[in-house]
This record gives sequence, structure tokens and C-alpha cells, in this order.
Amino acid sequence: MATLLGAIADDFTGATDLAGLLARSGVAVSLRIGVPDVPPSGDTAPFEVIALKSRTAPVVEAVGETLKALEWLKAAGAERFFWKYCSTFDSTPEGNIGPVAEAIMARLGAEQTIYCPAFPENGRSIYMGNLFVGQQPLAESPMKDHPLTPMRDSNLMRLLAPQVTGQVGLADYLTVAKGVDALRARLATLACEGVGHVVVDAVADSDLRVIAQACRDMALMTGGSAVATALPELLIEDGVLSRSAEAFHAPDVGPGAIVLSGSASAMTNAQVAAFKVSKPSYRLDPLALAEAGVGAAEAWLLALPLDASPMIYATASPDEVRAVQEKLGRGRAGELVEAALGSLAVAARDAGRRRFVSAGGETSGAITQALGVSRLDVGPEIAPGVPWCFAKSGGHDVAITLKSGNFGTESFFATALETLDRL
Ligand code: ADP
Repeated sequence: MATLLGAIADDFTGATDLAGLLARSGVAVSLRIGVPDVPPSGDTAPFEVIALKSRTAPVVEAVGETLKALEWLKAAGAERFFWKYCSTFDSTPEGNIGPVAEAIMARLGAEQTIYCPAFPENGRSIYMGNLFVGQQPLAESPMKDHPLTPMRDSNLMRLLAPQVTGQVGLADYLTVAKGVDALRARLATLACEGVGHVVVDAVADSDLRVIAQACRDMALMTGGSAVATALPELLIEDGVLSRSAEAFHAPDVGPGAIVLSGSASAMTNAQVAAFKVSKPSYRLDPLALAEAGVGAAEAWLLALPLDASPMIYATASPDEVRAVQEKLGRGRAGELVEAALGSLAVAARDAGRRRFVSAGGETSGAITQALGVSRLDVGPEIAPGVPWCFAKSGGHDVAITLKSGNFGTESFFATALETLDRL
């Protein structure tokens, strides 16, 4: 059916997160990795999410890719759009949050949009225009030391102002707390004053519902994934969308699972340790990969029966990762592991496995690329922000879940496979 809502995300796991939250409504969501090469055909979903890799790209590139994505979504039928960025407002004085929003507004002829990165479930809240991470102001949180987008101010108006040419304003918590009509009135007043870029406070999910309701007719909303979560229900209430007619049905994927882990985060280390206890596992050593390639791991995998649900992992402690990086260089170590996990995914598929659990943001990019997956239909969540997805790979239906580093609890891998069995 025609697309109702078109979303563009500035990174891969952010897109998965948004797609998973939209899919909570039971309505079909499709996730595209990059702007599709071909124009939309009849197979688009009511909610389409395009994942870009534009968070830290040069501004001109980020704007160019986003406008290409916008055109594709418009051609799919979308009339409302969502620009999704990180809930910690990851950006620099140059961009890319503001310039991209302004470019989309110009293309759509929209005079006003909102900025709401709040995600209460994950501890991100906005009060008087200041963003908090848990109990810390953004600029005192670990984000102050981010290698690419260090956030040294917590005030979203001050962060946004240098990124846009138009005026920046605030709809504060006192207004949001009064409800939908009060917020609409405040936005209208700001519009009369020529304020096109409005930061909106939110500290709880109920605030996000008020905001979604007040802004539902805007051509463009921008924010973290959470403020978009209420949109499907509003469209269903309006009668624009029927839950049953557009409900997602998981295809009947064959058996044979594999866990591929290239994340070195603390949570993934715990998840690997927990899964290893009950399932066959193989540890990839980047130094051995550099010398002898992926052959030994592949031979190990191919000797296992299809119902073994093995795990292949490069996941290691920070000290081990550092030691490898010192010998191989950070970039080369990462490339070796990503290429190995990608080719093992293909080997697993060609041996008949159809269920893939991938851990790591960059790793997931490498695995989907190797499997030739560019479109994912989003199914039920395993953990907040991590849904099962379904795709075609090599002519087969496959199930794949893409988990970024710190998501999920310790038992995530086993839970993921059990969740899929129950579908
Ligand atoms: P996360 O989502 O946790 O950041 P990513 O997959 O995005 O995970 O990033 C992890 C990076 O670390 C990848 O490039 C991966 O190839 C690399 N890596 C994983 N294991 C090792 C290791 N043992 N030694 C060196 N690099 C590693």
C-alpha cells in the first residue's frame, strides 16, 4: 500500500530502533538500508524507514543523501515525514541535524518543525530546552568525550542555533503539561513570530503522546525514535490506517540459526559468555585471520549439524582488543573481523541456515551487505530497540536481528532464538 509515514535516520542502528518502535503498533514497517536504487513499486509498507550513514558525514553529503531519501519516500506516497537522529543530539556546530531539517523543510514547503530527542524509557529527557542523560545534563554525561561529536553544551536551542539559518524557539514543559491545545497554541504563536525551529520539552512518555498529537499534521517532525512511537496509534484512531489490514505477518523461514558477534561492548561480552555455556562456539582471533584467513572457522561451522545454533564471535575484553589493535592497527583489525563475519554469514546461508543474530553496529552493516540485504521487514521486538527482521538473501527467506553494542540483557542471544521459534 501507499506509504503514510516516511522516516529518514542518520545511522543504521538508529533506524532499526525507530523501525522496532513503530512496529510495536502491529502495522507493517519496512527498513531500507540506504536509498533504494529503484523507484518504489507496489510493495511499500505504510511505514518506511530509510537508514543512512550520515551522522558525521560532511554537511553537503548528508543533505544530498537525505533529499534523495525524501524524494524516494514521496514517490512511495508519504505525505508526513520524520527525521530521526540520536537521543543525545549527536551533532557539531556545522550539523548535521539542523542543516538536514532545514533542507527537508525547504523541499516540503514546511514553515515549522519540532526537535524532540527525548527518550524517557532510556533516560533521555528535556526540561527548559536542556537535554539530560539520566540525571546528568548532556554536557556532563559521557557524551562530552565522544570521539566524533563531543557534546559540550546541554541546551538544545544553543546547540541548534548555529546549525540553522532560521529562528530557534522553545515550547517548554509548562506548556506541554497543559496538554495538546496549549502546545498547539504555543506553536502557532511561535509560527507568527517567524520561529521555524522549535525545541519541545518532554520528560515522560505521556508528554511524547501530547507532542505527537499536537504535531501530527506537521509535514516534518524531527527527534529521537520515542516521539514517533505514538504516531501509528494516532493514524489508526484517525481511521487512516487499519491495524488488521496492514498487520505484519512473519514469513515461514527455515530452521538453522547462527549467532555472529563482532561487538566488543561490555554487554555483548556478557551475552557471549552466557550463550557459550550451552551452545557450540568459535572464537575468531584477528591475528590468526590476518595470517591464515577465515578457512578454519568456516570448516568448523560446516562440520556442525543444522540444528546446532552455533556462535562465532570476535568479541573480546577491552585489553584484548587493544592488544590486537596495537599489532594490526584499529582499522585493519575491524576490517578483518567484519569481512570474516560477513563471509561466514554467507557460508552459513549457503549451508542452509536461515536465522541470523548479529551483534555490533558496524558488524551488522557488514553482515547485511555480505548477505545482499537492502530491505528488511520489521517484526516483533526481542528487546527495546532490537526487532526480528525478515529479508530475502540469495533467493531465500531469512530472519535477521541486528543488535547494537549495549542493547539487550545477558540472555539476549537465547531469547532472540526462542522469540523466533514462537512466531
Ligand atoms: P558496537 O555496536 O558494540 O560498537 P561494532 O560492530 O559497531 O560494535 O564495532 C566493533 C568493532 O570492533 C568492529 O569493527 C569489529 O570488527 C571490531 N572488533 C571486534 N572484535 C575485535 C577484536 N577482538 N579485536 C579487534 N577489533 C575487534
